[in-house]
Amino acid sequence: MTADRPAVTVLGLGSMGSALAGALLDRGHPTTVWNRSAHRAEALAGRGAEAAATAREAVAASPLVVACVLDHDALHAVLDPVAGTLAGRTLVNLTSGSPEQARATAEWARSHGADYLDGAIMTTPPGVGSPEMMFLYSGPEAVFEAHRPALATLGDPLYLGADPGMASLHDAALLGLMWATLTGWLHGTALVGAEKTEATAFTPVAVRWLTAVAGFMTTYASQVDAGRYPGDDATVDVQIAAIDHLLHAAGARGLDNALPELLKATMERAKAAGHGQDSYASVIEVLRGPSGGR
Ligand code: NAP
Repeated sequence: MTADRPAVTVLGLGSMGSALAGALLDRGHPTTVWNRSAHRAEALAGRGAEAAATAREAVAASPLVVACVLDHDALHAVLDPVAGTLAGRTLVNLTSGSPEQARATAEWARSHGADYLDGAIMTTPPGVGSPEMMFLYSGPEAVFEAHRPALATLGDPLYLGADPGMASLHDAALLGLMWATLTGWLHGTALVGAEKTEATAFTPVAVRWLTAVAGFMTTYASQVDAGRYPGDDATVDVQIAAIDHLLHAAGARGLDNALPELLKATMERAKAAGHGQDSYASVIEVLRGPSGGR
């Protein structure tokens, strides 16, 4: 262990945990690994990792413990029996979960004398180790700063604040964005594919369009924060008329139109709430629900 390459333990060696351990090894961190099914440690041991016989031994090996298992039930199945060994160490939990689970686990770690950061991995295993890929973190800032260099070996670490629930909250929001975007792209791909345009031909055009869409998001973000949605670029009424063209084109080619129908229905609810002449950003008033999302 050296000052700039502290020892790190990785608990959980599924697809993601193995990638995390591999990135740490690649950057020269002494890395101890443990997995419920021991055979998954073999490949990493072959690359220089220390394969601990037990989770307790693994936790005891490093001041920084990264956990990445299926879910919070699995996390507690692994950590509860070794809680005493966590005292004085930092637990970085990269297991996906809800903000409430993150807050509860932070409290649990604190009660056992451990520092805690909650994290979310915004890539798939092949992207781990790339500075292009975001890793979200929340928890005490001093703890994040102390471990930033080691965390930077996994991907670009983005700190979201002291509330440990923030990483999971942003993770959920960003996954929703990803699924909506990917499904929209696939629907468009099916539409142009119905006229023999291949996905590989359509996608560069779609990606370029996303650059424009990113610009709309930036413009609309200020409107959302201000609670005012001037319809000076394109109004909800105009979007409702435009989506009819998509519904028609896709319907005529036999495509599943559930996604654009949902989008049109949402726009119509915004119109019914008085936002027909407002910008598309006003749709957030519908999405927030009757309680205003608070
Ligand atoms: P995975 O390949 O299915 O691995 C699951 C891991 O959890 C294995 O190490 C498994 O151990 C362990 N596990 C499950 N139940 C357990 C239990 N009761 N006790 C102890 N260990 C248990 O999943 P993954 O893709 O690595 O995902 C791990 C976490 O990363 C998830 O929370 C996931 O949402 C998150 N994540 C994954 C990706 C991705 O692209 N894969 C991206 C972002 C975030 P065994 O080997 O013994 O079964």
